[in-house]
Amino acid sequence: MEIASILIVGGGLSGFTVAQNLRSRGFTGTLGIIDPAGIPYDRPPLSKAYLLGTKDAAGIQLAPDAWFAEHRVDVMVGSVAKLLLEPLGVRLDDGRELLADRLVLATGGAARPLPIEGGDLDSVLVLRDRNDADRLRSKLSEGTELTIIGAGLIGAEVASAAVELGAKVTLVDPIDPPLVPAVGPELARRLHDMHGTAGITTIQGAPARIVRENGKHLIEMADGSVITGDEVLVGIGIVPNTVLASDAGLQTDNGVVVDEHQRTSHPLIYAVGDAARTRTGSGELLRRAEHWEHAMNTGATAAASLLGQGLPQHGASWFWSDRHGVHVEGVGDMNAEGRTVLRLVDGAPAAAFRLGAGGNMLGAAAIDGGLTVKAARRIIDRGIIVDQEALADPNMPLKKLAR
Ligand SMILES: Cc1cc2nc3c(=O)[nH]c(=O)nc-3n(C[C@H](O)[C@H](O)[C@H](O)COP(=O)(O)OP(=O)(O)OC[C@H]3O[C@@H](n4cnc5c(N)ncnc54)[C@H](O)[C@@H]3O)c2cc1C
Repeated sequence: MEIASILIVGGGLSGFTVAQNLRSRGFTGTLGIIDPAGIPYDRPPLSKAYLLGTKDAAGIQLAPDAWFAEHRVDVMVGSVAKLLLEPLGVRLDDGRELLADRLVLATGGAARPLPIEGGDLDSVLVLRDRNDADRLRSKLSEGTELTIIGAGLIGAEVASAAVELGAKVTLVDPIDPPLVPAVGPELARRLHDMHGTAGITTIQGAPARIVRENGKHLIEMADGSVITGDEVLVGIGIVPNTVLASDAGLQTDNGVVVDEHQRTSHPLIYAVGDAARTRTGSGELLRRAEHWEHAMNTGATAAASLLGQGLPQHGASWFWSDRHGVHVEGVGDMNAEGRTVLRLVDGAPAAAFRLGAGGNMLGAAAIDGGLTVKAARRIIDRGIIVDQEALADPNMPLKKLAR
């Protein structure tokens, strides 16, 4: 059957990419995106330029308003309360029902709540959407005491932006250093130590209770110590938004389970981005990715798949992060079984390469080394075996080894 209409639930990067790719791949039918936030915007700036005020709401839109009219993508402001299966469609929380030939779930995730007493206080901040960023920004001024629970990617980025805005930041994490699975222990150590240099207090420990007293937050730690401050932000990851799928009887498992075509267990419903989790053809359930490029890649795959076209090829998974004036990138799997070759610049680790038993590269990460990571990705994707001495030599452009 010719597909006449497609509805995308969620207008983040993955939902937007599905729409963009459907049009660029020639889909001429009715196309809609439903999202309470309206016109799609990009999330990474929320902990960087948008929080710092160097980009505004218009500056983080994924496309100008006119693009949606030109490409006949109908952006509907609303929230889907239920998926309808017979006939296929959605019911919005205002009761409206919309039907379509295919549905795409691009619902992303919600900030993971801190599972301790006081973790759910209204005054405890999180950062997932633009409203959260506006609220956080409004709380930060010269001298604000901000405690951040979770020193992963978002916690670290907010810490960096907040000190720039004049806040006094305390960064709490049970693991020291955090991010080892993403960038390896050597780069993780260097990155975490940058917080101290920037004047941030880092504390290794787990919070046990949050209490609000006289306008302040008291964070009681498991070891009995107490951190007192004005504001608390929790950045401990996300929970994928899978309720619509599970209520409709679709298979979920810490994500909406999809195959390599982004098809869910319902033949007419697809899922993409942070909300989706792939089961490979051989039955392996992969780790759910929560990165910007993965949202784009899965969006492109879903569009191709919906139109019965050949699937695009994507390289090893890649992410970036910015903090304290440095740019971090990682590709592949730094946690894979194997050993690490380091590249030192002025005695400090600038890049790390994870090699498997056969000398094949499985992962790479670098600080201020975008070109190195780009070349490493090529090496990983092509299975090129590189000389380890050359790999460790900071004067050897990795591009030369990627040929
Ligand atoms: C602050 C921040 C900084 C980040 N920085 C980086 C970075 O530096 N590098 C990197 O690689 N990644 C980064 N990421 C991750 C990246 O932004 C995400 O992986 C990406 O946004 C995922 O896109 P998505 O479309 O799957 O989900 P989302 O962007 O979360 O979009 C999901 C959308 O679905 C909507 N929705 C949910 N439920 C419903 C419903 N029932 N009805 C209608 N709509 C619904 C939501 O409103 C939301 O707009 C960052 C994320 C955040 C939050």
